Amino acid sequence: MTNKSENNNSNSPPNTAKVSSPILIPRTVSYDVGTNPPRRGGTTYLDMGDSKSARRRRSSSILQIYQEPQEPIEQLNDQSTLPNLNANWVNAKGAWTIHIVLIVALKILWDVIPGVSQETSWTLTNISYMFGSYIMFHYVRGVPFDFNSGAYDNLNMWEQIDDGAQYTPAKKFLLSVPIVLFLLNVLIYHLIESSHESRPIFRWRVTRYSEFQSLSLPEPIKDYHNRIFTERDDSNYMISAFQSQALIFLARAIGAKRVLEIGVYVGYSAMVWSHAVGPQGKVTGLEYSEEYAKLAQEAWKDRGYENIDVHVGPAAETLTKLADISEPYDIIFIDADKTGYSGYLRQILEMSAPGAKNRLLRPVAIIAADNTLRQGLVADPSESNPWRPADFDNPESFQAIAVAAISEYNDLAGDNDRLETFLIPLWDGLHLSRLVD
Ligand code: SAM
Repeated sequence: MTNKSENNNSNSPPNTAKVSSPILIPRTVSYDVGTNPPRRGGTTYLDMGDSKSARRRRSSSILQIYQEPQEPIEQLNDQSTLPNLNANWVNAKGAWTIHIVLIVALKILWDVIPGVSQETSWTLTNISYMFGSYIMFHYVRGVPFDFNSGAYDNLNMWEQIDDGAQYTPAKKFLLSVPIVLFLLNVLIYHLIESSHESRPIFRWRVTRYSEFQSLSLPEPIKDYHNRIFTERDDSNYMISAFQSQALIFLARAIGAKRVLEIGVYVGYSAMVWSHAVGPQGKVTGLEYSEEYAKLAQEAWKDRGYENIDVHVGPAAETLTKLADISEPYDIIFIDADKTGYSGYLRQILEMSAPGAKNRLLRPVAIIAADNTLRQGLVADPSESNPWRPADFDNPESFQAIAVAAISEYNDLAGDNDRLETFLIPLWDGLHLSRLVD
């Protein structure tokens, strides 16, 4: 056996002479210069470039070819004496399954980290396996076992496996694992992506089915919705047909006869409330824009909805003028400027104090606030929300201001002892609050 420190000596003589080393006695081997030393089991060396020297080549960069120095004879001799524990396990029964187990373990590890999506977790599994296997097979030398007095100190794992032979079953398998893992990663990524794409279609079908199974909207209301939708660029202000069905159901379930709406636009939802409360009921609308109010009034008149009034001006001001109302409202629907929501709620509660003479809302009435999920941004403002606008990090941006205001409203309603709340993920979010006193 050679001394390990001798093997690590970079001044070790090259294999250029007929050798009969006294150090190796009693296991001395002799062979001629230019021929390979005898190999365990009689295997022959595979040429890696220079067929005469049988040296293995490794490239340290794309452009340079690194020439591995000749292994010292003592080292070659040591390598030929005993089986290589470092590399032989690779061919042991069941050894290949370790890679599958490792990949599964890595996947679980990345999955348990909060905030890591499925796509990211697969990519991290891929990268960490590739990195780990590169370190293990190609970077570190002479490991895992300090074996045969360092006989394999100059060789990395890949060079040790199958005595350096290429295209062996073990090497084909080890090469195929990262390739298959990468392809699997790409496939899974696309499957996840396509399932995201199909989700809106799936949701749309479910909503269509639910609409079909729910109370029907009168033709004039359906027509007006379609007309606004096709004719106006700002038609996304309107509530959806499905939400209209829900509001009618809600109003009728509590026997509502008087509805106050903050934010009328061109009068669609007021028409829905009008239908819900019936001709004996009353709908009051508060609208900032005179132009919208005018269009709304024309639409109501044309379609025969006569029980709706609209007050033009900023709703916070108009609300105070409603203080002398003779009969309290059963429902207040808030669907106007989002930054005004919290203020409207405070005003409504103040104007509906228990025992007060002219209450705005009757006891056990409902406050329904629209857009209270704000495209899910109040619940999940992270990058994984597809609706998150690019400027969302800017607190001055339109959406950031709206989301902050809605969050404040949701908390204000949710934390108030006078209210019992239920936030429905219907359309853009409908926050229902029941006034308990
Ligand atoms: N509820 C309507 C519907 O579904 O058909 C849509 C209402 S739209 C989302 C919001 C409306 O609130 C707009 O018409 C806007 O002019 C009005 N608005 C905005 N700020 C207001 C304010 N301070 N006072 C009253 N109305 C306001």
